[in-house]
Amino acid sequence: MARLYDSRKRILVTGGAGFLGSHLCDRLIAAGHEVLCVDNLFTGTKRNIDHLHAHPRFEFMRHDVTFPLHVEVDEIYNLACPASPVHYQHDPIQTTKTSVIGAINMLGLAKRLDARILQASTSEVYGDPTVHPQPEAYWGSVNPIGPRSCYDEGKRCAETLFFDYHRAMGLRIKVARIFNTYGPRMHVADGRVVSNFVVQALKGLPITLYGDGSQTRSFCYVDDMVDGLIALMASPDTVTGPINLGNPAEFTIRALAEATQRLAGTALPMVRAPLPADDPRQRRPDIAKARSLLRWSPRVPLEDGLRRTIAAFRERLADGVLADAA
Ligand code: NAD
Ligand code: UDP
Ligand code: UDP
Repeated sequence: MARLYDSRKRILVTGGAGFLGSHLCDRLIAAGHEVLCVDNLFTGTKRNIDHLHAHPRFEFMRHDVTFPLHVEVDEIYNLACPASPVHYQHDPIQTTKTSVIGAINMLGLAKRLDARILQASTSEVYGDPTVHPQPEAYWGSVNPIGPRSCYDEGKRCAETLFFDYHRAMGLRIKVARIFNTYGPRMHVADGRVVSNFVVQALKGLPITLYGDGSQTRSFCYVDDMVDGLIALMASPDTVTGPINLGNPAEFTIRALAEATQRLAGTALPMVRAPLPADDPRQRRPDIAKARSLLRWSPRVPLEDGLRRTIAAFRERLADGVLADAA
Protein backbone atom coordinates (compact mmCIF):
# COMPACT_ATOMS: atom_id res chain seq x y z
CA MET A 1 0.00 0.00 0.00
CA ALA A 2 2.79 2.40 0.98
CA ARG A 3 4.53 1.66 -2.30
CA LEU A 4 1.40 2.42 -4.28
CA TYR A 5 1.06 5.73 -2.45
CA ASP A 6 4.71 6.68 -3.10
CA SER A 7 4.35 6.14 -6.82
CA ARG A 8 0.91 7.76 -7.04
CA LYS A 9 0.87 10.87 -9.19
CA ARG A 10 -1.64 13.62 -9.85
CA ILE A 11 -2.16 13.51 -13.58
CA LEU A 12 -3.99 16.02 -15.76
CA VAL A 13 -5.60 14.66 -18.93
CA THR A 14 -6.94 17.42 -21.19
CA GLY A 15 -9.53 16.09 -23.62
CA GLY A 16 -10.14 13.34 -21.05
CA ALA A 17 -13.83 12.96 -21.90
CA GLY A 18 -13.01 12.15 -25.53
CA PHE A 19 -12.35 8.82 -27.19
CA LEU A 20 -8.63 8.38 -26.49
CA GLY A 21 -8.63 10.52 -23.34
CA SER A 22 -11.31 8.49 -21.58
CA HIS A 23 -9.43 5.23 -22.19
CA LEU A 24 -6.27 6.91 -20.88
CA CYS A 25 -8.13 8.08 -17.74
CA ASP A 26 -9.32 4.49 -17.17
CA ARG A 27 -5.79 3.14 -17.40
CA LEU A 28 -4.25 5.80 -15.15
CA ILE A 29 -6.93 5.26 -12.49
CA ALA A 30 -6.36 1.50 -12.69
CA ALA A 31 -2.63 2.11 -12.16
CA GLY A 32 -3.42 3.88 -8.86
CA HIS A 33 -3.01 7.54 -9.89
CA GLU A 34 -5.19 10.57 -9.24
CA VAL A 35 -6.67 11.86 -12.46
CA LEU A 36 -7.93 15.33 -13.23
CA CYS A 37 -9.91 15.23 -16.47
CA VAL A 38 -10.30 18.64 -18.12
CA ASP A 39 -12.62 18.91 -21.11
CA ASN A 40 -15.02 21.45 -22.64
CA LEU A 41 -17.23 18.60 -23.93
CA PHE A 42 -17.10 19.85 -27.52
CA THR A 43 -16.69 16.37 -28.99
CA GLY A 44 -16.25 14.47 -25.74
CA THR A 45 -19.12 13.35 -23.59
CA LYS A 46 -19.78 12.70 -19.92
CA ARG A 47 -21.01 9.28 -20.97
CA ASN A 48 -17.39 8.29 -21.73
CA ILE A 49 -16.37 8.96 -18.12
CA ASP A 50 -19.66 8.22 -16.31
CA HIS A 51 -18.24 5.06 -14.81
CA LEU A 52 -15.37 7.05 -13.23
CA HIS A 53 -17.45 9.76 -11.57
CA ALA A 54 -17.87 8.03 -8.24
CA HIS A 55 -14.19 7.09 -8.10
CA PRO A 56 -12.38 8.88 -5.24
CA ARG A 57 -9.22 9.44 -7.35
CA PHE A 58 -11.08 10.88 -10.36
CA GLU A 59 -12.16 14.48 -10.88
CA PHE A 60 -13.81 16.13 -13.88
CA MET A 61 -13.50 19.84 -14.65
CA ARG A 62 -15.37 21.47 -17.52
CA HIS A 63 -12.90 23.95 -18.98
CA ASP A 64 -11.69 25.20 -22.34
CA VAL A 65 -7.88 24.95 -22.66
CA THR A 66 -7.71 28.16 -24.66
CA PHE A 67 -8.14 29.84 -21.24
CA PRO A 68 -5.47 29.68 -18.53
CA LEU A 69 -5.73 26.79 -16.09
CA HIS A 70 -4.40 26.92 -12.55
CA VAL A 71 -4.23 23.47 -10.97
CA GLU A 72 -1.55 21.42 -9.19
CA VAL A 73 -0.41 18.24 -10.98
CA ASP A 74 2.74 16.16 -11.56
CA GLU A 75 2.15 15.17 -15.18
CA ILE A 76 0.11 16.52 -18.09
CA TYR A 77 -1.27 14.64 -21.09
CA ASN A 78 -2.47 17.30 -23.55
CA LEU A 79 -5.11 15.62 -25.73
CA ALA A 80 -7.70 18.41 -25.98
CA CYS A 81 -8.51 18.99 -29.66
CA PRO A 82 -11.26 17.77 -31.97
CA ALA A 83 -9.68 14.98 -34.03
CA SER A 84 -11.99 14.05 -36.86
CA PRO A 85 -12.21 16.14 -40.06
CA VAL A 86 -15.96 16.73 -39.58
CA HIS A 87 -15.42 18.10 -36.08
CA TYR A 88 -12.22 20.07 -36.57
CA GLN A 89 -13.59 21.74 -39.71
CA HIS A 90 -16.84 22.70 -37.94
CA ASP A 91 -15.13 25.73 -36.33
CA PRO A 92 -11.64 25.81 -37.87
CA ILE A 93 -10.51 28.96 -36.07
CA GLN A 94 -11.40 27.43 -32.70
CA THR A 95 -9.46 24.30 -33.77
CA THR A 96 -6.28 26.28 -34.39
CA LYS A 97 -6.82 28.19 -31.14
CA THR A 98 -7.27 24.95 -29.21
CA SER A 99 -4.02 23.52 -30.57
CA VAL A 100 -1.92 26.66 -30.32
CA ILE A 101 -3.28 28.64 -27.35
CA GLY A 102 -4.13 25.36 -25.59
CA ALA A 103 -0.49 24.27 -25.97
CA ILE A 104 0.79 27.63 -24.68
CA ASN A 105 -1.43 27.42 -21.60
CA MET A 106 -0.53 23.82 -20.84
CA LEU A 107 3.17 24.56 -21.35
CA GLY A 108 2.87 27.58 -19.03
CA LEU A 109 1.24 25.31 -16.48
CA ALA A 110 3.96 22.66 -16.89
CA LYS A 111 6.63 25.34 -16.53
CA ARG A 112 5.19 26.70 -13.28
CA LEU A 113 4.86 23.17 -11.83
CA ASP A 114 7.99 21.65 -13.35
CA ALA A 115 5.66 18.90 -14.59
CA ARG A 116 6.29 16.48 -17.44
CA ILE A 117 4.05 17.22 -20.38
CA LEU A 118 3.02 15.04 -23.31
CA GLN A 119 1.50 16.39 -26.50
CA ALA A 120 -0.92 14.32 -28.57
CA SER A 121 0.39 15.28 -32.00
CA THR A 122 -0.66 13.53 -35.15
CA SER A 123 0.38 11.82 -38.36
CA GLU A 124 -1.38 14.76 -40.05
CA VAL A 125 1.81 16.77 -39.49
CA TYR A 126 3.13 14.73 -42.46
CA GLY A 127 0.22 15.94 -44.64
CA ASP A 128 -0.10 14.04 -47.92
CA PRO A 129 3.30 12.39 -47.56
CA THR A 130 5.85 12.05 -50.35
CA VAL A 131 7.87 9.61 -48.22
CA HIS A 132 6.41 6.22 -47.33
CA PRO A 133 6.29 4.91 -44.62
CA GLN A 134 6.75 8.09 -42.60
CA PRO A 135 9.73 8.32 -40.25
CA GLU A 136 9.91 11.12 -37.65
CA ALA A 137 12.71 12.81 -39.62
CA TYR A 138 10.33 13.50 -42.53
CA TRP A 139 9.17 17.15 -42.40
CA GLY A 140 5.89 16.57 -44.15
CA SER A 141 3.93 17.87 -47.09
CA VAL A 142 1.15 20.03 -45.68
CA ASN A 143 -1.12 22.50 -47.45
CA PRO A 144 -1.09 25.59 -45.20
CA ILE A 145 -4.35 27.08 -46.51
CA GLY A 146 -6.67 24.11 -47.16
CA PRO A 147 -9.66 22.82 -45.20
CA ARG A 148 -7.45 20.45 -43.14
CA SER A 149 -4.86 23.14 -42.35
CA CYS A 150 -6.48 24.34 -39.11
CA TYR A 151 -5.76 20.93 -37.64
CA ASP A 152 -2.47 20.07 -39.40
CA GLU A 153 -0.82 23.46 -38.96
CA GLY A 154 -2.26 23.89 -35.45
CA LYS A 155 -0.64 20.61 -34.42
CA ARG A 156 2.62 21.52 -36.17
CA CYS A 157 2.73 24.84 -34.33
CA ALA A 158 2.01 23.04 -31.03
CA GLU A 159 5.06 20.82 -31.70
CA THR A 160 7.13 23.96 -32.35
CA LEU A 161 5.99 25.43 -29.03
CA PHE A 162 6.83 22.23 -27.17
CA PHE A 163 10.36 22.18 -28.55
CA ASP A 164 10.90 25.90 -27.90
CA TYR A 165 9.78 25.56 -24.26
CA HIS A 166 12.11 22.56 -24.01
CA ARG A 167 15.10 24.38 -25.49
CA ALA A 168 14.50 27.74 -23.80
CA MET A 169 13.32 26.60 -20.38
CA GLY A 170 14.37 22.98 -20.05
CA LEU A 171 10.78 21.70 -19.89
CA ARG A 172 10.49 17.92 -19.85
CA ILE A 173 8.44 17.30 -22.98
CA LYS A 174 7.12 14.27 -24.87
CA VAL A 175 5.64 14.57 -28.34
CA ALA A 176 3.67 11.59 -29.71
CA ARG A 177 2.68 11.55 -33.38
CA ILE A 178 -0.46 9.47 -33.23
CA PHE A 179 -1.64 7.59 -36.33
CA ASN A 180 -5.27 6.57 -36.98
CA THR A 181 -6.61 4.99 -33.81
CA TYR A 182 -9.97 3.28 -33.36
CA GLY A 183 -12.02 1.42 -30.79
CA PRO A 184 -14.99 1.59 -28.45
CA ARG A 185 -16.22 5.12 -27.52
CA MET A 186 -15.31 6.65 -30.87
CA HIS A 187 -17.88 9.36 -31.52
CA VAL A 188 -20.60 7.68 -33.57
CA ALA A 189 -21.13 10.72 -35.82
CA ASP A 190 -17.61 12.04 -36.21
CA GLY A 191 -17.33 10.88 -39.81
CA ARG A 192 -14.12 8.93 -39.26
CA VAL A 193 -13.82 5.85 -41.36
CA VAL A 194 -13.99 3.11 -38.73
CA SER A 195 -16.94 4.63 -36.84
CA ASN A 196 -18.76 5.37 -40.11
CA PHE A 197 -18.29 1.87 -41.48
CA VAL A 198 -19.23 0.12 -38.22
CA VAL A 199 -22.35 2.26 -37.73
CA GLN A 200 -23.38 1.74 -41.35
CA ALA A 201 -22.84 -2.01 -41.18
CA LEU A 202 -24.81 -2.31 -37.92
CA LYS A 203 -27.67 -0.14 -39.15
CA GLY A 204 -27.94 -2.04 -42.43
CA LEU A 205 -26.90 1.00 -44.49
CA PRO A 206 -24.58 0.85 -47.49
CA ILE A 207 -20.94 1.60 -46.68
CA THR A 208 -19.73 4.94 -48.06
CA LEU A 209 -16.45 4.59 -49.91
CA TYR A 210 -14.78 7.94 -50.65
CA GLY A 211 -12.90 7.83 -53.95
CA ASP A 212 -12.17 4.33 -55.22
CA GLY A 213 -11.15 3.05 -51.78
CA SER A 214 -7.56 2.40 -52.86
CA GLN A 215 -6.14 5.01 -50.46
CA THR A 216 -4.47 3.41 -47.44
CA ARG A 217 -4.40 3.91 -43.69
CA SER A 218 -2.87 1.98 -40.78
CA PHE A 219 -5.22 1.41 -37.86
CA CYS A 220 -4.14 1.11 -34.24
CA TYR A 221 -6.45 -0.29 -31.57
CA VAL A 222 -7.02 2.14 -28.70
CA ASP A 223 -5.58 -0.12 -25.95
CA ASP A 224 -2.28 -0.34 -27.83
CA MET A 225 -2.23 3.44 -28.26
CA VAL A 226 -2.81 4.03 -24.54
CA ASP A 227 0.08 1.64 -23.78
CA GLY A 228 2.28 3.68 -26.12
CA LEU A 229 1.34 7.03 -24.58
CA ILE A 230 2.01 5.75 -21.06
CA ALA A 231 5.33 4.19 -22.14
CA LEU A 232 6.38 7.49 -23.70
CA MET A 233 5.48 9.45 -20.57
CA ALA A 234 7.49 6.95 -18.46
CA SER A 235 10.56 7.11 -20.70
CA PRO A 236 13.78 8.94 -19.67
CA ASP A 237 13.80 12.75 -19.99
CA THR A 238 16.15 12.46 -22.99
CA VAL A 239 13.31 10.85 -24.97
CA THR A 240 11.40 13.93 -26.10
CA GLY A 241 10.13 12.59 -29.40
CA PRO A 242 8.60 13.39 -31.73
CA ILE A 243 7.87 9.70 -31.84
CA ASN A 244 5.44 7.87 -34.11
CA LEU A 245 2.80 5.74 -32.39
CA GLY A 246 0.59 3.63 -34.61
CA ASN A 247 0.12 0.22 -36.12
CA PRO A 248 2.28 -0.30 -39.22
CA ALA A 249 -0.13 -2.84 -40.75
CA GLU A 250 -1.45 -0.95 -43.78
CA PHE A 251 -4.85 -1.52 -45.41
CA THR A 252 -6.76 0.02 -48.27
CA ILE A 253 -10.02 1.63 -47.24
CA ARG A 254 -11.83 -0.87 -49.44
CA ALA A 255 -10.22 -3.76 -47.51
CA LEU A 256 -11.34 -2.13 -44.25
CA ALA A 257 -14.89 -1.86 -45.60
CA GLU A 258 -14.90 -5.53 -46.61
CA ALA A 259 -13.53 -6.66 -43.23
CA THR A 260 -16.13 -4.58 -41.38
CA GLN A 261 -18.97 -6.05 -43.42
CA ARG A 262 -17.68 -9.58 -42.93
CA LEU A 263 -17.28 -9.22 -39.16
CA ALA A 264 -20.62 -7.45 -38.74
CA GLY A 265 -22.33 -10.05 -40.89
CA THR A 266 -23.68 -7.69 -43.54
CA ALA A 267 -23.08 -7.52 -47.28
CA LEU A 268 -24.90 -4.54 -48.80
CA PRO A 269 -23.37 -3.01 -51.93
CA MET A 270 -21.04 -0.09 -51.17
CA VAL A 271 -21.76 3.42 -52.42
CA ARG A 272 -19.10 5.74 -53.80
CA ALA A 273 -18.72 9.39 -52.75
CA PRO A 274 -16.13 11.97 -53.83
CA LEU A 275 -12.73 11.92 -52.15
CA PRO A 276 -12.46 14.91 -49.74
CA ALA A 277 -9.95 17.70 -50.53
CA ASP A 278 -6.35 17.01 -49.47
CA ASP A 279 -7.20 13.43 -48.48
CA PRO A 280 -3.80 11.69 -48.06
CA ARG A 281 -3.26 8.83 -50.55
CA GLN A 282 -1.41 6.60 -48.15
CA ARG A 283 -0.28 6.54 -44.57
CA ARG A 284 1.78 4.09 -42.53
CA PRO A 285 3.97 4.81 -39.51
CA ASP A 286 7.61 3.86 -39.30
CA ILE A 287 7.70 2.84 -35.61
CA ALA A 288 11.38 1.85 -35.36
CA LYS A 289 11.94 4.61 -32.79
CA ALA A 290 9.04 3.53 -30.59
CA ARG A 291 10.23 -0.07 -30.79
CA SER A 292 13.78 0.75 -29.73
CA LEU A 293 13.26 3.65 -27.31
CA LEU A 294 10.00 2.57 -25.67
CA ARG A 295 10.11 -1.17 -26.35
CA TRP A 296 6.57 -0.65 -27.62
CA SER A 297 4.74 -2.09 -30.56
CA PRO A 298 1.03 -2.69 -31.12
CA ARG A 299 -0.37 -6.11 -30.30
CA VAL A 300 -4.00 -6.11 -31.43
CA PRO A 301 -4.53 -7.12 -35.08
CA LEU A 302 -7.17 -5.23 -37.08
CA GLU A 303 -9.63 -8.15 -37.09
CA ASP A 304 -9.59 -8.46 -33.28
CA GLY A 305 -9.86 -4.73 -32.74
CA LEU A 306 -12.69 -4.43 -35.25
CA ARG A 307 -14.53 -7.29 -33.56
CA ARG A 308 -14.27 -5.53 -30.17
CA THR A 309 -15.32 -2.22 -31.70
CA ILE A 310 -18.32 -3.75 -33.45
CA ALA A 311 -19.39 -5.44 -30.18
CA ALA A 312 -19.16 -2.13 -28.28
CA PHE A 313 -21.08 -0.23 -30.96
CA ARG A 314 -23.72 -2.96 -31.02
CA GLU A 315 -24.29 -2.38 -27.29
CA ARG A 316 -24.67 1.34 -27.87
CA LEU A 317 -27.08 0.62 -30.69
CA ALA A 318 -29.14 -1.41 -28.26
CA ASP A 319 -29.08 1.60 -25.87
CA GLY A 320 -30.36 3.83 -28.68
CA VAL A 321 -27.16 5.91 -28.80
CA LEU A 322 -26.65 5.33 -32.51
CA ALA A 323 -30.14 6.49 -33.39
CA ASP A 324 -29.00 9.83 -34.86
CA ALA A 325 -25.76 8.63 -36.43
CA ALA A 326 -25.54 8.20 -40.18
P1 NAD B 1 -11.98 13.28 -29.45
O1 NAD B 1 -12.62 14.35 -30.25
O2 NAD B 1 -12.80 12.11 -29.02
O3 NAD B 1 -11.34 13.92 -28.13
C1 NAD B 1 -10.90 15.24 -28.03
C2 NAD B 1 -11.39 15.81 -26.72
O4 NAD B 1 -10.93 17.16 -26.58
C3 NAD B 1 -12.91 15.87 -26.64
O5 NAD B 1 -13.35 15.30 -25.43
C4 NAD B 1 -13.23 17.36 -26.73
O6 NAD B 1 -14.43 17.71 -26.07
C5 NAD B 1 -12.00 17.96 -26.10
N1 NAD B 1 -11.75 19.34 -26.50
C6 NAD B 1 -11.77 19.86 -27.75
N2 NAD B 1 -11.47 21.17 -27.72
C7 NAD B 1 -11.24 21.48 -26.41
C8 NAD B 1 -10.89 22.68 -25.73
N3 NAD B 1 -10.72 23.83 -26.39
N4 NAD B 1 -10.75 22.64 -24.38
C9 NAD B 1 -10.94 21.48 -23.70
N5 NAD B 1 -11.27 20.33 -24.29
C10 NAD B 1 -11.41 20.33 -25.64
O7 NAD B 1 -10.70 12.81 -30.25
P2 NAD B 1 -9.64 11.67 -29.94
O8 NAD B 1 -9.63 10.77 -31.09
O9 NAD B 1 -9.84 11.11 -28.59
O10 NAD B 1 -8.28 12.50 -29.98
C11 NAD B 1 -7.57 12.88 -28.81
C12 NAD B 1 -6.28 13.56 -29.19
O11 NAD B 1 -5.46 12.67 -29.94
C13 NAD B 1 -6.47 14.81 -30.06
O12 NAD B 1 -5.55 15.78 -29.66
C14 NAD B 1 -6.16 14.32 -31.44
O13 NAD B 1 -5.67 15.36 -32.25
C15 NAD B 1 -5.11 13.26 -31.16
N6 NAD B 1 -5.07 12.26 -32.25
C16 NAD B 1 -6.06 11.31 -32.36
C17 NAD B 1 -6.00 10.40 -33.41
C18 NAD B 1 -7.06 9.32 -33.59
O14 NAD B 1 -6.97 8.58 -34.56
N7 NAD B 1 -8.00 9.15 -32.70
C19 NAD B 1 -4.98 10.47 -34.35
C20 NAD B 1 -4.01 11.48 -34.22
C21 NAD B 1 -4.07 12.35 -33.15
N1 UDP C 1 -0.57 29.50 -17.59
C1 UDP C 1 -1.62 28.71 -17.13
N2 UDP C 1 -1.48 28.11 -15.92
C2 UDP C 1 -0.38 28.27 -15.14
C3 UDP C 1 0.68 29.05 -15.63
C4 UDP C 1 0.56 29.64 -16.87
O1 UDP C 1 -2.62 28.54 -17.79
O2 UDP C 1 -0.35 27.70 -14.05
C5 UDP C 1 -0.72 30.16 -18.90
C6 UDP C 1 -0.52 31.65 -18.79
O3 UDP C 1 -1.79 32.26 -18.66
C7 UDP C 1 0.15 32.03 -20.08
C8 UDP C 1 0.65 30.71 -20.67
O4 UDP C 1 0.31 29.71 -19.74
O5 UDP C 1 -0.78 32.58 -20.99
C9 UDP C 1 2.13 30.69 -20.92
O6 UDP C 1 2.78 30.88 -19.69
P1 UDP C 1 4.27 31.38 -19.64
O7 UDP C 1 4.65 31.50 -18.20
O8 UDP C 1 5.14 30.53 -20.47
O9 UDP C 1 4.22 32.77 -20.38
P2 UDP C 1 3.82 34.22 -19.90
O10 UDP C 1 2.86 34.09 -18.76
O11 UDP C 1 5.11 34.83 -19.48
O12 UDP C 1 3.20 34.83 -21.11
N1 UDP D 1 -13.40 7.46 -45.69
C1 UDP D 1 -14.28 6.74 -46.47
N2 UDP D 1 -15.59 6.65 -46.08
C2 UDP D 1 -16.05 7.22 -44.94
C3 UDP D 1 -15.14 7.95 -44.13
C4 UDP D 1 -13.83 8.05 -44.54
O1 UDP D 1 -13.91 6.17 -47.52
O2 UDP D 1 -17.25 7.08 -44.65
C5 UDP D 1 -11.97 7.53 -46.10
C6 UDP D 1 -11.38 8.94 -46.11
O3 UDP D 1 -11.60 9.56 -47.37
C7 UDP D 1 -9.92 8.65 -45.86
C8 UDP D 1 -9.92 7.44 -44.95
O4 UDP D 1 -11.20 6.85 -45.11
O5 UDP D 1 -9.26 8.32 -47.06
C9 UDP D 1 -9.68 7.79 -43.48
O6 UDP D 1 -10.55 8.83 -43.12
P1 UDP D 1 -10.67 9.41 -41.64
O7 UDP D 1 -11.53 10.63 -41.72
O8 UDP D 1 -11.06 8.34 -40.71
O9 UDP D 1 -9.18 9.79 -41.22
P2 UDP D 1 -8.00 10.62 -41.89
O10 UDP D 1 -8.33 10.97 -43.30
O11 UDP D 1 -7.86 11.80 -41.02
O12 UDP D 1 -6.87 9.66 -41.82
